[in-house]
Amino acid sequence: MSAGKTTKVLFASSEIAPFAKTGGLADVCEALPKALLPLGVTPTLCLPLYRIVKEGGWDLEVVIEDLPVQVGDDEIQADIHRGWLTKEIPVFFVQRDEFFDRTSLYGTPKGDYFDNAQRFAFFSYAVFALSKTLDQRWDVIHCHDWQTALIPVYLKTVLSDDPLFAKTKTILTIHNLGYQGIFPAETFPRLGLPSQLFSVEGLEFWGKVNFLKGGIDFADQVTTVSPTYAGEIQTPEFGNGLEGVLKTKASSLIGILDGVDYSVWSPENDPHLAAHYSSDDLSGKRACKEDLLKRCQLSHDLLERPLLGMVSRLAGQKGVDIICEVVDKVMAAGAGLVILGSGEKRYERLLVQMARKYPQQMIVRIAFDESLAHQIEAGCDIYLMPSLYEPCGLNQMYSLRYGTLPVVRRTGGLADTVVEVNPKKRKGTGFQFIDYHPDALWKAIDKAVQCFANRELWQQLIQQAMAQDFSWSRSAGEYLRLYQRLTKRG
Ligand code: ADP
Repeated sequence: MSAGKTTKVLFASSEIAPFAKTGGLADVCEALPKALLPLGVTPTLCLPLYRIVKEGGWDLEVVIEDLPVQVGDDEIQADIHRGWLTKEIPVFFVQRDEFFDRTSLYGTPKGDYFDNAQRFAFFSYAVFALSKTLDQRWDVIHCHDWQTALIPVYLKTVLSDDPLFAKTKTILTIHNLGYQGIFPAETFPRLGLPSQLFSVEGLEFWGKVNFLKGGIDFADQVTTVSPTYAGEIQTPEFGNGLEGVLKTKASSLIGILDGVDYSVWSPENDPHLAAHYSSDDLSGKRACKEDLLKRCQLSHDLLERPLLGMVSRLAGQKGVDIICEVVDKVMAAGAGLVILGSGEKRYERLLVQMARKYPQQMIVRIAFDESLAHQIEAGCDIYLMPSLYEPCGLNQMYSLRYGTLPVVRRTGGLADTVVEVNPKKRKGTGFQFIDYHPDALWKAIDKAVQCFANRELWQQLIQQAMAQDFSWSRSAGEYLRLYQRLTKRG
């Protein structure tokens, strides 16, 4: 790449906010391209045209009809729509209704869609078909998680002779190693890959097909979303069986912390809030708390008591089981608890049962509700994130900006972003615990509750938390350096 020329990066992702989101991946794929633009990167985005996008009222234009996508022996057609993330950042949507016009992105509460392997292999292939039709030579294709992990595999195998992609480098960012895209061996022949790739050196993983493993093997660069998680995933405790494969990439595996899009997450101008506030004037935070208590029909007495909150996918990773075990203690301490989440039925049921016991103090809303998520961040005093593992985690960073001190397990990105409170020194931004056990969680909550009782101390801690800066500009700079290093390699 010569000086002065911009780096052309295609982001291929299964989630991009605000179009389609189930978790932090979507936030990252919205914010990172925006942050890269002023640094001299030309980002282009590519996303499946899910039903939720169709129903979202976005201004989309069909730019290619009946684009042939050859996946192995099957030729499947796609229509390509173009929308815009901002006026400089185009988003290409791949339409194939048979695959993507469904109620959810990946599955129903009963389980994953049976054909997820075909759906995302098709999407990955479509990225190349689209690039060819547009005659686009990307400097880098930046892939995210298992859904687009086959892109580096296709590039280095079936497309290795294609001159259009001869100089294209691939990055695979692992946002969560807990999801690898593992499918039965019978799926393999339908992926359009050479049969020798179904081996231990390729995509095979204990007799099954593992998309992420393939991506890790074939990507020019593997990254993950926090420095601590980059180390953790090379150990058996966090590696989910891929620690060995990741270790072979150890010299180039790096963790770049996700950032926060403060244009969306700032209490100074958040349109979802009843009042605005800043660290100089926290009166609006009290108004937000009052508003949240009213919305949730919780006791008005909680205005003077600590109010704990959580917004989360309800998955095993998120620590719901240990939260349920401390609820009685939290309630006995006179605190309140607001939980917004959706996901696994057993956690939904468990939480709803707990909330029924304490109608004045606790509420559980089973939903995906963007507004309420912002209102919880602003209206609570303490934020709970006791994750078993957490690659980066965004909510704890949002909470810091909203002056809602996080209680976190010291793992992954939580360890990298929260500084333990030292009440004597009046320093710190949150409360950490190490053992994944309700007693350890309770100790950290109890410490937070004690600190809350000291109003002056609490105010100082809030101000330190709100002053933390996790904006994307720093992390985007790290990605830029990575792109430049890769493209220089030739
Ligand atoms: P993960 O990516 O593992 O789900 P993160 O903390 O990185 O966790 O990101 C979660 C994102 O999803 C945040 O923006 C959070 O506010 C949002 N989110 C999760 N569950 C819900 C929900 N039920 N309603 C609204 N937003 C949610």
